[in-house]
Amino acid sequence: MNLLLFSLFREKKRRRVVELTEKMVVDGGDGHNCEWEGRWNHVKKFLERSGPFTHPDFEPSTESLQFMLDTCKILVIGAGGLGCELLKDLALSGFHNIHVVDMDTIDVSNLNRQFLFRGKDVGRPKADVAADFINSRIPGCCVIPHFKKIQDLDETFYRQFHIIVCGLDSVVARRWMNGMLLSLLVYDDGVLDPGSIIPLIDGGTEGFKGNARVILPGMTACIDCTLELYPPQVNFPMCTIASMPRLPEHCIEYARMLLWPKEKPFGDGVVLDGDDPEHIQWVYQRSLERAAEFNITGVTYRLTQGVVKRIIPAVASTNAVIAAACATEVFKIASSAFIPLNNYMVFNDVDGLYTYTFEAERKENCSACSQVPLDMHFSPTSKLQEVLDYLTESASLQMKSPAITATVEGKNKTLYLQSVASIEQRTRPNLSKTLKELGLADRQELAVADVTTPQTMLFRLCFTS
Ligand SMILES: [Zn+2]
Repeated sequence: MNLLLFSLFREKKRRRVVELTEKMVVDGGDGHNCEWEGRWNHVKKFLERSGPFTHPDFEPSTESLQFMLDTCKILVIGAGGLGCELLKDLALSGFHNIHVVDMDTIDVSNLNRQFLFRGKDVGRPKADVAADFINSRIPGCCVIPHFKKIQDLDETFYRQFHIIVCGLDSVVARRWMNGMLLSLLVYDDGVLDPGSIIPLIDGGTEGFKGNARVILPGMTACIDCTLELYPPQVNFPMCTIASMPRLPEHCIEYARMLLWPKEKPFGDGVVLDGDDPEHIQWVYQRSLERAAEFNITGVTYRLTQGVVKRIIPAVASTNAVIAAACATEVFKIASSAFIPLNNYMVFNDVDGLYTYTFEAERKENCSACSQVPLDMHFSPTSKLQEVLDYLTESASLQMKSPAITATVEGKNKTLYLQSVASIEQRTRPNLSKTLKELGLADRQELAVADVTTPQTMLFRLCFTS
């Protein structure tokens, strides 16, 4: 598998070197006027000599560096904690053609770790500021920013890259990106064309924990293959909150979950808003009282807001470790000089330091990458609501707001769609109808669209008796 990728990139590089040689004859120069003596010595040590850890097929040459500097196009998704680190690492490793996509603007709370940003940049798009910083600091490097959602860019855009690196904090965005790269795969008589594979390097961090993984779409485990690894939100047991609190968090949860709905401090039906200081202040005061009752210390305003808004503190050093691991994988794949990570690295320094690597396996019936039509088993008397619940609650699907359509009596019919209010209203009554009442038949195909993927997913409805 790695050998295949290796030869793929070597072939791309060889073609590029021929082009460059021709260009040099025309231009009469190499075009690198911003280079200086010894600039890439650190990288050349890896690429221009053999070593005990090099890939078995590795041949030392100057081509790899030229490929990285001139040709290799990298896309970085996210210009936040991981993104800043990634851009710096990649640019200093010799990648000079980088695009970055991020939809966020800079907040003052980012400045402690997102080191490409300064106080004067608050309010400006992260992608723009990050690109400007790298471009002005690293001669010859060209970072092109896209202040956009990943969903606003199409497959023509994504297809231009050799490698894509994700530094995202959202599982939905990750799954969408995964789905996009899977949709770019070309199958010829069921055989995957390796030229259509764009490797995806995915980094993720949460507090002191992080992971880095290498995904070869269509060949190795994809994001959705391992969806069960993203567990639902961990909550404290209600009995602990209600009767035996031990942590300041338990006291805050008590005020948030039990006192707020009971005392209705801001009126009936007012939902607790984590961004409203008066709301947080109320929860904070109640939490303090609760904590005093049980001799618990550590309830602060800041912690209260953190618990209410479910904030997990970002740790700069975790971002640095994970981004470095991801950038190293980009370097290994782009240069073909070393064997890539196979394929999932876990990092945890909550207590001491712990790390290991394992090979995540492809799931035979992965809803995203398996090419196998998925069967859904329901009784004809099941209601459409049950189908909807299955799509959102199944650990392997975890959809957010699925839209279900089917062809009934030759016509395309929207059974339920949540994202457009008027259609939601019109289709809501369908949820309490049975599948039979909706005119659905055994072996019927259902098309489901969701924010977790750019592609519509097809399911086969199998009636159980
Ligand atoms: Zn998969």
